[in-house]
Amino acid sequence: SPAIVWFRRDLRTRDLPTLTAAAAAGGAVLGLFVLDEALLRPSGPARREVLYATLAALDEELGGRLCVVRGDPRVVVPQVAKEIGADAVHVSADFGPYGRDRDEAVAREVDLVRTGSPYAVAPGRVTKADGGSYRVFTPYFGRWLDHGWRVPADTTASTVAWLDPALPIRVPIPRAGSTSRWEAGERAALARWTEFRDNDLAHYDATRDRPDLDATSRMSVYLKYGCIHPRTMLADLAGRPDAGPAAFRRQLAWRDFYADVLHHRPDSARRNYDPRFDAMRYDSGPDAETAWSAWCAGRTGYPIVDAGMRQLLAEGWMHNRVRMIVASFLVKDLHLPWWRGARYFMRHLIDGDLASNQHGWQWTAGSGTDAAPYFRVFNPISQGQKFDPDGDYVRRWVPELRAIAGARVHTLDDGRPLGYPDPIVDHGVERMEALARYGELKRG
Ligand code: FAD
Repeated sequence: SPAIVWFRRDLRTRDLPTLTAAAAAGGAVLGLFVLDEALLRPSGPARREVLYATLAALDEELGGRLCVVRGDPRVVVPQVAKEIGADAVHVSADFGPYGRDRDEAVAREVDLVRTGSPYAVAPGRVTKADGGSYRVFTPYFGRWLDHGWRVPADTTASTVAWLDPALPIRVPIPRAGSTSRWEAGERAALARWTEFRDNDLAHYDATRDRPDLDATSRMSVYLKYGCIHPRTMLADLAGRPDAGPAAFRRQLAWRDFYADVLHHRPDSARRNYDPRFDAMRYDSGPDAETAWSAWCAGRTGYPIVDAGMRQLLAEGWMHNRVRMIVASFLVKDLHLPWWRGARYFMRHLIDGDLASNQHGWQWTAGSGTDAAPYFRVFNPISQGQKFDPDGDYVRRWVPELRAIAGARVHTLDDGRPLGYPDPIVDHGVERMEALARYGELKRG
């Protein structure tokens, strides 16, 4: 009898252990994807576009046989299984708070077989000697390296015989609008990885903090949808102890680390990981809303902050260093809560990932695991001078400032061009205010 491969965050056919598991039964296989409103709702148009384009690419790999349905997976997955008389539904394990509950419910109705996960080392696997979980990255990283990961699985779409039933609940894949400039799917992911590996990886450690150079892999979007598995990249890094590959391996470990943290503390998606921060005072009222709107639109009057927020709106992506700078600015200069910024990021980022995003924000806000000390407040001007030393990044994203040469684009010593806002706050003053509020927490 047939089996189902239910695709979720593994929209690929190469190196997919669920395919091996489904094929092992010897029957035909139905490739299924569920458009689930609960997951679509928090994402904005850009992220949906990427999803739809990725589904179209997967469908092509399956020879047009990807079966897409719409609805609550708790209902529609058992329904499809019943209609085709499937024995088992194969999935990669999901460790997010929503996915875990959903899968438990589905597993009560069908034989849900979990093989593999979207991570090199699945959440819960790296533990301390006493069995507890890590809340600090560096020791986690050491154990993660020791743990190791599987070699890539040898699968392709042709490993199995794909079913193509005319199910009444099947819907067409929503069309990705023409605005999507993203090359979606597993072939694009492998091509991008190869390009990065061969050209930029060797100097990644030296250039990864420079938004002007655009020298990072931009693999986050492909990892988000599982168009490539991290172990495929890790296999290419094997036997390369030099600084570039080593730094890249460490970043991939951060992704696993945050998934592990969220797995152990699902509440940390919405709440402070460190409950002491529940007493933090945030601003509210009309002035706070004006500041919020300026931040969202990239009109704070701080060039690197504005460049980042405009890159987010234009590309659905932002360089990591700039994500830290704009997040710090929202929390410590504007005194607004991290979860508002995190929600805005999840709406606009095409790589929006609950674990990496919420914990990236909590790290900046000081309330997370392994947090940056709260008193280390990023200065948006000196961060700009340091990481965008010639000002190219700012000029790329803030057209009002294009006529200003070199690093002066960060300081605007000779005045502000018409149309570019004055700073909405004074960083020096707000830094002291942030430290005072932090002091209250410590005393409280
Ligand atoms: P590269 O530098 O090429 O890194 C390679 C891969 O390593 C990334 O694709 C990513 O999977 C992983 N990685 C790198 N840095 C981190 C990190 N700090 N934490 C976790 N994984 C990391 N990443 C997301 O994938 N989705 C998010 O929603 C997200 N939100 C963030 C929010 C904030 C406030 C901050 C500070 C960081 C956030 N990050 C998020 C982490 C990081 O900024 C992005 O992964 C990175 O910028 C993606 O670009 P890249 O693929 O070119 O990265």
